[in-house]
Amino acid sequence: MDILSKIDRFYKNYKYEKGIIGCTYSHRNIYYFCVKKTDAPRIIVQYSIHAREYITAYLALKHIKDFLKEKSRGTVYFIPCLNPDGVQIALHKNPLYKANGRKVDLNVNFDAKWGTGAFNKTTPDDENYIGQYPFSERETVAIRDFTYKIKPHGTISYHAKGEEIYYEFFQTERDRKRDLKIAEAIAKETGYKIKSTVGSVGGYKDWCIEKLKIPSLTIEVGNDGLSHPIGQESLGDIYKKNKGVIKVFTEELWKLSL
Ligand SMILES: [Zn+2]
Repeated sequence: MDILSKIDRFYKNYKYEKGIIGCTYSHRNIYYFCVKKTDAPRIIVQYSIHAREYITAYLALKHIKDFLKEKSRGTVYFIPCLNPDGVQIALHKNPLYKANGRKVDLNVNFDAKWGTGAFNKTTPDDENYIGQYPFSERETVAIRDFTYKIKPHGTISYHAKGEEIYYEFFQTERDRKRDLKIAEAIAKETGYKIKSTVGSVGGYKDWCIEKLKIPSLTIEVGNDGLSHPIGQESLGDIYKKNKGVIKVFTEELWKLSL
């Protein structure tokens, strides 16, 4: 069973709050799963916005099951796969594919210094094409509107690869220090390195930082020696390093609200 079918089945069997944030051009649902402990802090965690990085969708299902059992605070909205059309292409046609079904790279389609990135492309491609305008795609509109509705206190975006954490996007110095502290807590938990964002714009994390002014991290799983797409044999190691991330993130946000 491929990961998209796994998510479908997981959705059917999930007994708690769940829903569909949007539908893709090929009529695939984009699901969310909610685990609620306390009202705040609220966080959104999204996975597999890049097609070939669907190993992160496997991690999502593990995170949901774990957080259900966790003694913790907060409400977490998990979106295991924001880009099911792209994942379908990566699974069956082109293993290195990153974009959505319309050859738009969703993580450069957000309205955050859109189109000014170092690797941005202005024509449809397997990766780095920014789209005709910010939020030109159903997937980015879906998560934008969902984010406005939930009003999260923080977000995490899961990508592959490199074992790195990104937390910057032209914040004020005060916000940057706040966000660095959280990134450091996640670095300690995972063993991943904190990196500076250079030349990368238009992503979900960037948009959350710029427009919502909340702590938002990108976490790149899988060591750099692996090749895309990362196979399931690496899931054990990735899971081990990322098992505690959701709890640590919610605890850090909770401390900020005290
Ligand atoms: Zn990515």
